[in-house]
Amino acid sequence: MSWLQSAFDRFFKLRIWQQACFVTLFSMLAAETLTLVFYSIFFSERLLLDLVLTALITTVIAYPISYVFLRKTAMVAELVAELDMAATTDFLTGLRNRRDFMRIAGEMISSTVSSAGVVLIIDVDHFKRINDRFGHAEGDRVLVLIAEAIRQSVRANDVCARIGGEEFAVFMPGADLPLAHTICERIAITCRLVGCGANDVGISTTVSIGVAVHGPLQSLDEVIREADTMLYKAKQGGRDRVMHQPPRDIVA
Ligand code: GH3
Ligand code: MG
Ligand code: MG
Repeated sequence: MSWLQSAFDRFFKLRIWQQACFVTLFSMLAAETLTLVFYSIFFSERLLLDLVLTALITTVIAYPISYVFLRKTAMVAELVAELDMAATTDFLTGLRNRRDFMRIAGEMISSTVSSAGVVLIIDVDHFKRINDRFGHAEGDRVLVLIAEAIRQSVRANDVCARIGGEEFAVFMPGADLPLAHTICERIAITCRLVGCGANDVGISTTVSIGVAVHGPLQSLDEVIREADTMLYKAKQGGRDRVMHQPPRDIVA
């Protein structure tokens, strides 16, 4: 009964007073119909008066009651939406949080028999220095800009998240290594454009990226572990670079 569902959906998009009016009108029509049926049989001489009285009584009772209940229902729906947002979103950057990343990427991986795509783990280089030199608030601002740079660099259906303090993850469904290279280069370049400090001329922000291609039957945890190992190698190799399995420098 999809028409009924869509009617309900449209109803709950109305303002509360409009919903209450609809419920009242519906109650009134139902009451009038019953009055019409019974009174036309038993008390036909006072039918008109009773129709008016029924309409009045239904309105006085149905409107306030339906308004209060519908308002409560709307508040609960709003709270559920807020909770859902808080449970899935990183409050600082607006990207997905780690939990949501694991859920979505995990579902994508489990529904694929062959390679599901590529995982990137991105870590801001020497981020502590930014905090130490410019303060935590400036560090936060840089994280927001880095998140935006990542979001702008990936494809529309790639899944981006902040999975730790200054660590981000991207899952690229259906991607292969050459495509991952292109995206990583784009991320590296756009992140470098993020300035910090007075007039954005302080420390330049570089990132190190670990890349792992999902192998058939591999779990998400395994791919992330591989990408983490590659990130560690990128850090060891001098930072500001991308490494993938088998280890190879992509951006020097
Ligand atoms: P590396 O190149 O090895 O990654 O060095 P790093 O300084 O980036 O890494 P390290 O792990 O030493 O420091 C990370 C810093 O990130 C320390 C922590 O205070 C800071 N940090 C974590 N979360 C946040 C946050 O939400 N906001 C800010 N401003 N700083 C954060
Ligand atoms: Mg770091
Ligand atoms: Mg880190």
